[in-house]
Amino acid sequence: MQGLMQDWPLLTHRIIDHAARIHGDREIVTRSVEGPIVRTTYAEMRKRALKVAQRLDREGIKLGDRVATIAWNTARHMETWYGIMGIGAVCHTVNPRLFPDQIAWIINHAQDRIVITDLTFIPVLEKIADNVPSVERYVVLTDKAHMPQTTLKNAVAYEDWIAEVDGDFKWKEFDENTAAAMCYTSGTTGDPKGVLYSHRSNVLHSLMANSGDALGATSKDTMLPVVPLFHANSWGIVFSAPAMGTKLVMPGPKLDGESVYELLSTEKVTYTAGVPTVWLMLLQHMEKNNLKLPDLKVVICGGSAMPRSMIKAFDDMGVEVRHAWGMTEMSPLGTVGALQSQFAQLKGDAKLDVLQMQGYAPFMVEMQITDDAGKELPWDGKTFGRLKVRGPAIAGAYYQVDKQILDENGYFDTGDVATIDKYGYMRITDRSKDVIKSGGEWISSIDLENLAVGHPQVAEAAVIGVFHPKWDERPLLIIQPKEGQTVTRDDILQYMDGKIAKWWMPDDVVFVDSIPHTATGKILKTALRDQFKDYSLPTAAA
Ligand code: ADP
Repeated sequence: MQGLMQDWPLLTHRIIDHAARIHGDREIVTRSVEGPIVRTTYAEMRKRALKVAQRLDREGIKLGDRVATIAWNTARHMETWYGIMGIGAVCHTVNPRLFPDQIAWIINHAQDRIVITDLTFIPVLEKIADNVPSVERYVVLTDKAHMPQTTLKNAVAYEDWIAEVDGDFKWKEFDENTAAAMCYTSGTTGDPKGVLYSHRSNVLHSLMANSGDALGATSKDTMLPVVPLFHANSWGIVFSAPAMGTKLVMPGPKLDGESVYELLSTEKVTYTAGVPTVWLMLLQHMEKNNLKLPDLKVVICGGSAMPRSMIKAFDDMGVEVRHAWGMTEMSPLGTVGALQSQFAQLKGDAKLDVLQMQGYAPFMVEMQITDDAGKELPWDGKTFGRLKVRGPAIAGAYYQVDKQILDENGYFDTGDVATIDKYGYMRITDRSKDVIKSGGEWISSIDLENLAVGHPQVAEAAVIGVFHPKWDERPLLIIQPKEGQTVTRDDILQYMDGKIAKWWMPDDVVFVDSIPHTATGKILKTALRDQFKDYSLPTAAA
């Protein structure tokens, strides 16, 4: 027997309709690319998104056509998402931090017809313009007064472009499984792979993100997504914030500690989300200038492991830290580390131990850990194995890649190695390709990095496996000291001694001026492995 309820397709534009109707006056504040702080509302944003939809329709953009955005977090950028998706076109967010050749590769693979971009990225797009024949026109997110001379094909200032229509337009009708957006994973190995979100997956993901123990911001809150819109579906915030009527503060191009602090402070932000690198810059700025953030309630931190020292710094400020783990393929939320009731009273190190884990899966994410043969491993908080996931907002295939990515039970292998405890709290111990295999046993590079970075003179730490004649691989610790500080190999090893098993201790420590990062802010281990490929450990000679 079928249920007798209404068939109400889960389409993303219903979210902005809702925000405009119920939370129409709530603000979206932007540090604009041109400089000044500008303000709009959800009601206004919906009107402009409809104009984008109408203008794209007039341009001949059809259901399933790809429209790229290469842009900072601004209200203009956000409204283009709704406009593109609202006619059933696919909003393809491109990460401007990629190399120009990679950007061209991705635009070609997606066959983007229009590119919507910021003033900042005109030079790089001009460089690759001859290599991206599918692009018919470039729309620059600015007005006539700020529009520069450019060789980009059919370039037009965004404000002029949408002024050509009156906004008297209705969203198109289509099935909820229609593609809404796409985002390529950075592909540290091999070509980037396109993840293709649907309307349904985005709407379900926004409900998941809005549950109290996940992102959990409300209509009384103000959210500042430092995480870029072009990184993993903006962690869903473009959908979750308007669904709740949360006020948004968009940081535009300025993501340094001082600029982020200024917005957090002046706009009385209560929730914010981003990767550890940006929090490092913020905390350093605050420490140096003895600053406080009395309104800030929750910091969500993911993308790579959040160091314990950082968790403590926020916890000491009275800010609730939620460590999150996810990936582009998961829309991206996989786990969030809010404190369950049995942990609510914990203090000091015991509390930090829980907060340092990556958290537990919200409803709609199912996880398991398995050994290499696919056998499920116990949730005892100790055994580590391959982390696999399934759910309605998790990729089932990559765009135009003819390869099965799910196992026979419908699980996707995340490429991460993790433990899960009896409460469901997951702890990433490594990427499967970064784990150090020493004498047949595994050593977690992330655990070593987290420990080393707790040393007061260390800015950042990376651990890679280096060839060893007896053990196959042993850990090499690479340290970037804090600016103007000196620290020795022995200081570091002494600091780590006793905090981990003896056989996990790095065989050597080396110092570098800067640790390389990927376009999404993760430590670029392939580059480090390259740099140290001929490195001979002092223990190797023995
Ligand atoms: P990329 O395109 O850089 O691969 P993703 O955001 O999809 O971008 O990367 C996902 C990966 O990032 C995860 O599989 C995991 O290895 C790592 N990651 C994300 N969040 C965390 C976290 N909180 N702790 C440790 N690793 C994390």
